[in-house]
Amino acid sequence: MTELPVAVIGAGPVGLAAAANLIERGIAVKVYEAGREAGKNIRAWGHVRLFSPWGFNIAPAARGLLAEAGWEEPDGQAYPTGAELVDGYLAPLAATPSLASVIEYGARITAVGRHGIDKVVSRDREQRPFVLTVVGDDGVTRRDQARAVIDASGTWTSPNPIGAGGLAADGEEALKDRIAYGIPDVSSRDRSTYAGRTTLVIGAGHSAANVLLDLDELSAAEPGTKAIWATRGRDLSRVFGGGGDDQLAARGDLGQRLSRLVAEGRIELVSGFAVTGVREQAGMLVVDGDVGGAGRIIGPVDRIVACTGQRPDLSLTRELRIEFDPWLESARTLGPMIDPNLHSCGSVPPHGHRELAHPEPGFYIAGIKSYGRAPTFLMLTGYEQVRSIAAALAGDLVAADDVRLGLPETGVCKAAPSGDCCGGPAPVEADACCAADAEAKAEGQLGCGCGPARQPEPATSSCCGKAA
Ligand SMILES: Cc1cc2nc3c(=O)[nH]c(=O)nc-3n(C[C@H](O)[C@H](O)[C@H](O)COP(=O)(O)OP(=O)(O)OC[C@H]3O[C@@H](n4cnc5c(N)ncnc54)[C@H](O)[C@@H]3O)c2cc1C
Repeated sequence: MTELPVAVIGAGPVGLAAAANLIERGIAVKVYEAGREAGKNIRAWGHVRLFSPWGFNIAPAARGLLAEAGWEEPDGQAYPTGAELVDGYLAPLAATPSLASVIEYGARITAVGRHGIDKVVSRDREQRPFVLTVVGDDGVTRRDQARAVIDASGTWTSPNPIGAGGLAADGEEALKDRIAYGIPDVSSRDRSTYAGRTTLVIGAGHSAANVLLDLDELSAAEPGTKAIWATRGRDLSRVFGGGGDDQLAARGDLGQRLSRLVAEGRIELVSGFAVTGVREQAGMLVVDGDVGGAGRIIGPVDRIVACTGQRPDLSLTRELRIEFDPWLESARTLGPMIDPNLHSCGSVPPHGHRELAHPEPGFYIAGIKSYGRAPTFLMLTGYEQVRSIAAALAGDLVAADDVRLGLPETGVCKAAPSGDCCGGPAPVEADACCAADAEAKAEGQLGCGCGPARQPEPATSSCCGKAA
């Protein structure tokens, strides 16, 4: 087993950082990347400007490798676009001699298991190497072995559907050629598709904010361009953000610009709209939904942009013993720390190899995929995750457990030290999940948007009621 490399799935920022950390520790590593270049998923939203400046986006372990290659670090205060992040950081990093020799491009991992045993078998499990099914660009399949696996394959290619219930809306599949999932480049690459047309943008996160702002800009140059914005929730405080209170100024600014667009009536907002179906009518699209129990229609529109987030592809790990948070599909221990029902502050307690471990020893999910469906992941978090995992794989538990993470807060609400959401625990007599929720309800509002508090896990009984 010690002869085998650690397999890293994905050459995004976190996969490359994982490899850099392993190389730093003298551990053999092999990186499998489905695309033809590092940062393939980021390239898909290359026109979007990041809200974290360069200083936040570079993994400490990568700095060493890049410095050796004569790389000049960009101004830490400047904000790159996705494409600039790939061209100015990920591509040079992937091209450093130590990494170039261990990355295989056009190599998609379709399954991971243990050599010779399925997930049911416990005996000698830890002594068995991992087996990865590798499918090349040419369609040829082979199996590689590894001593440990870090899955940093991201979530970008598994978008959530527009159906409010998490299932595809009626008609969604049939009309998907007129639905763009993600962040189309409406100002440039995809301009002709959106210019002079009416687009419905669905979703209430930063992706929706980016598309709506771009459509507004396009409408100034291309008459007839119109945007309608539909959100499932009614409370838009998270996407409008903390403005000047956001510790990432660009993130605060994005929300404020969107808020101004709505206030000035430059886009039509339909909040509380739960999409149930989409259908064609006279060559246009009509979207059916539910607002507070009553049916409502949006349309006709030419196109739909689904900014409804992503979810992890769980098929890869079917033959491994994996434990996910039941609703986020994040690493189990991480769930309560990042649950968007409870937290909107952007901070997460430092976490490393222990929180990211699964019942399958030697297997970790890192990067944005470790957050499952939670939308608040930052690269900085991933860099610290993989530093800790690499240290653990090297047997350096002191370094692995010394996890440090100070994330910039959104300024929307402050987490109490106990992690009890906004402003601390609610007063005992209040039917609320935190102080901010109690205050909002006392003022006659629906609440602050947080969900029911998570119940502690029931204690597990030991075995079958009697000692062996
Ligand atoms: C629009 C947008 C803006 C963002 N802005 C910021 C920001 O400003 N600051 C910030 O810190 N974070 C930001 N994020 C969040 C996050 O940091 C990024 O999504 C980041 O790319 C996550 O890195 P990752 O390495 O975990 O995954 P990814 O970047 O998604 O990389 C995964 C890699 O794995 C490869 N892959 C996938 N499946 C397989 C497979 N089966 N086999 C082999 N390879 C595979 C992919 O091709 C890809 O190269 C943003 C996210 C989005 C979507």
